[in-house]
This record gives sequence, structure tokens and C-alpha cells, in this order.
Amino acid sequence: MSAPQEPWQWPEEHWRGLVNRVRAGRSLKPRQWPQGARCAVALSFDSDHETNELREGGESIGRLSQGQYGNRQGIPRILEILRRHSVPASFFVPAVSALLYPEEQRRIAGEGHEIALHGWIHERNAVLPEAAERELMLRSADTLERIAGTRPVGIRTPSWDFSPATLAIAREMGLQYDSSLMADVDCYELLLDGQPSGVVELPVEWIRDDAVYFNMNRFAGLRPCTPPADVFDIFRRELDAAYREGGIFQLTLHPPSAATARASGSWRS
Ligand SMILES: [Zn+2]
Repeated sequence: MSAPQEPWQWPEEHWRGLVNRVRAGRSLKPRQWPQGARCAVALSFDSDHETNELREGGESIGRLSQGQYGNRQGIPRILEILRRHSVPASFFVPAVSALLYPEEQRRIAGEGHEIALHGWIHERNAVLPEAAERELMLRSADTLERIAGTRPVGIRTPSWDFSPATLAIAREMGLQYDSSLMADVDCYELLLDGQPSGVVELPVEWIRDDAVYFNMNRFAGLRPCTPPADVFDIFRRELDAAYREGGIFQLTLHPPSAATARASGSWRS
């Protein structure tokens, strides 16, 4: 008997099954933050560099040069600002970026920041066969560990999506957290098929991602142009809300966008 093809024909069991593969479980918002802090700030940088172009099989020398900018200008500027303010951050690094720039990863780790998983070549993990996804996640963890000296404990999936197998693989690998999903403003435990997985979700949001405002693709419809001051205003409102609610302010930034940050001065806190 073949299953009905159209979503409006799906039996309840089917759509419930899809929804329940990965869900938000108990909230992990703490009653209070350490040292009496009003809220937490989680700064993260996705060092995609050239993998943004390579992952789709692209060979554009122009777009690859934009990736190299992340290494030559983006990361050094970011590290300098973090150092000036003594702020630790998380860097999500595709293994291919780490292989292209091992010194960059050693410097980031050496300055006390976290290096975590972000795919092999920024591949769309959600569409991979399970065996390929597992092999790439393990190989990426081995590669980051070899280069940066510490085995990663967290993952941000490229493009912020899961395959039906991603969470099970993350748990198998003993990863402590993921930062790719959006079910809450505060941290929560991920449920796998309705059961607590032990994996913490540190939720992201497109409005707290600089790529939404600054990325552009010449040959597609993607040409956003939000003035840096407006982006800063959006981020500041998010921070204000987290402060009011005693929650977490999480930000996703991309090293190639650091030039815009330079223009706007939005990095000064
Ligand atoms: Zn990325």
C-alpha cells in the first residue's frame, strides 16, 4: 500500500512523526546567571571563508576572494576587538576552512576562544545520506582537533538545518550542544523522537545573523542593503530584550562582514 502523496492526505500519524523527530524539550533558562549578571551574551562567528563558494561546486575567483577576505581582514579585526574587551567567543569552522588556514585556528584557540563544528565544506548536511553525514561530522571533528588541539564539543550545522539523522549522530559523538535551531529565545534540551537527548540547543535566529543584512548574490534575487546603523539598532533591541527578560542574547556573525562593521563602528560596545 503506497502512502498518499499530498500533505493534506497524510494521516495524522505521519505528520506527527515528522514534527516529533526533533523538538524543543525542557527550557534551560537559568533562574539566575553567574555573578549576578542580568543576561548572557553569546557571540559567535562562522568562519565560512571560501567554503561558501565551494560547497555548491562554485569556482568563482571573485567569490573565493571574498572568502579570503574573511581570513586576511575579518578574523584579525574580530580577534583584536575581542581581545580589547576581554570577551571570549565561539568560532564555527568548516574543516576545509581550518585546512586552508590552520594558523588562524591556532591563533583563535590560543586566544581562548572556542572552535566548534560547522560541516566539512559547508555542505548542506540536511540532504546527505546518513552514512555520508556521519563520516563528514567525524572527519571534521578529527580535523579541528588535530589543527586546534581540542576536540570540538558543539556544532552549528551549515545552513541551520538537520537531516533526520543529525541529532542522533551528534549524540553519538558526545557533542554537548547544537546552535542551529529556532524553537525558543532561551536555551533548551533537544528531544529526539520525543525523548530527551542530553544535547543542549543554543537557539539562533535569522534576525540576529549579519548574513541576512550584508550578503548579496549578483545573479540571484539576494541584494539586501540594510544600513549598518539599522542592523546595529536591530541587534541592540535584541540585546535590550534579553536584558529585560534575563535571557540570552545570541549573535551570529561572519568574518567577511567585518568590513561593514568597520564602517559603522557597530563593534564598539
Ligand atoms: Zn556558515
